[in-house]
Amino acid sequence: MPTKKIIKKKKEEKKPKKSTPTKIVKKENPQKSEQPSGEQRNAKGVRIPALLRGMKDILPKDEGVWKKMYHTAENISEAYGFGRIQTPVLEEASLFIRSVGRGTDVVDKEMYVFEDRDLAKICLRPEATASVARAYIVHGMVSLPQPVKMWYFGSMFRHDRPQAGRYREFHQFGAESIGDRDPVNDAELIVTAFNFLKELGISPVLHLNSIGTADDRAKYLVELSGYLRTKRSYLCEECKKRLLKNPLRVLDCKNEQCQSTIEESPQIVDSLSESSRNFFMKVIEYLDDLSVPYVLRHTLVRGLDYYTDTVFEFYEEETGEGSAQSALGGGGRYDGLVEELGGRPTPGCGFALGLERVAYAIKRNLDKEVKTDVKAKNNQVYFAQLGEQARRRALYLIEDLRHAGTVTYHNLSKTSLKNQLELANKYECPYTLILGQKEVQDGTIIIRDMESGIQEIVDQKKLKSILDKKIQSLTNA
Ligand code: AMP
Repeated sequence: MPTKKIIKKKKEEKKPKKSTPTKIVKKENPQKSEQPSGEQRNAKGVRIPALLRGMKDILPKDEGVWKKMYHTAENISEAYGFGRIQTPVLEEASLFIRSVGRGTDVVDKEMYVFEDRDLAKICLRPEATASVARAYIVHGMVSLPQPVKMWYFGSMFRHDRPQAGRYREFHQFGAESIGDRDPVNDAELIVTAFNFLKELGISPVLHLNSIGTADDRAKYLVELSGYLRTKRSYLCEECKKRLLKNPLRVLDCKNEQCQSTIEESPQIVDSLSESSRNFFMKVIEYLDDLSVPYVLRHTLVRGLDYYTDTVFEFYEEETGEGSAQSALGGGGRYDGLVEELGGRPTPGCGFALGLERVAYAIKRNLDKEVKTDVKAKNNQVYFAQLGEQARRRALYLIEDLRHAGTVTYHNLSKTSLKNQLELANKYECPYTLILGQKEVQDGTIIIRDMESGIQEIVDQKKLKSILDKKIQSLTNA
């Protein structure tokens, strides 16, 4: 039963290493010491313009790592069928106030908000999910095949207290999948981020939780607030304020004083409705199928208001866990966001990885082999699947093909073959792989030549070599 499984996994949850965060933070970030600081004057006493606090230059000597991150992000996103979106760095301030939410650090304390020359209130984007959701609405993407899958790579701005791994301008690679509430999307996003990190030589540890729907959370908040009120005297001053303003944020507190209270707090999974619990179980099952390891962390709630159901974060294996500073990235589902911004009720989910932290992890692991080659893109196929069993097997086969360098377009939440073949045509894939229940049982798969319509049944074990030959003959033709 779902609940049992959640509880069983919960026991495997590791407790955050309490001393790790500060240590990592202090040692981390070679860039910090490289940045010139303080006022500088030349020999004539002329002041040299300073680098703003919390900002950094990315110098040519670091370009190799940034290129590597960009190419890996591009390759992996395209292989999973995400299209690149670039949104402006400047947005209306209200976009983030309405989505990220008042009461969050990002909106209340960290946004760069100012008046434009025409007195409009604008801001430097502190994150990109809200911008992508805005773009989805204003460009009428609701009329495209759903989900619409987009990735981005760019700078974000938060007026945070600069420290190691924390800047005022930083970069994120992120991906969003908007328009479909199937848990397979959550698993696909997680595996995309997971593989991005792995391909860069990093060993990611995935922390996972579900915060349910807004109703589930309202129910949980009553319980949590009641519990926290009884423990008020044990909380730090900041958490006493959070208790009044936004009790969920207490669970994010990193202050040592609050940790035992947080650990013993009621668990949000116990407040999940049946449908949210089943949804979460499905995500977990898909991750099991994909052999993506995870740690269930009941205190993981994420700092932004728009999340619903699945939430997750990535840490680097060697650096331990638990510190917000050491998180390489995170994400989750946001089924209310598009509607909140004035669009139709539209589900969505996504992730964002902090590239400064990823760059640091890469540099530290430089002695490990990192794949740098940019694969040719003329070998794309469409993968169509029919039925639950086929979908599961598809996840596995797509991974296999991707590792072998084949770009695989797919839409695992589609159930009709006709729709999937239409998409294959749209993406101009020369071949479509078709997997139904019968093929799963026989260990076979159909290769359809999209031009002639001729279909061939082949053994799944021979798929890669047969496909390679076909693609090769296409390239030679
Ligand atoms: P968030 O958008 O807050 O979920 O952050 C996602 C990831 O972006 C974090 O896990 C960090 O890796 C990175 N990040 C967030 N804020 C900063 C910052 N001020 N400086 C550097 N990286 C950051």
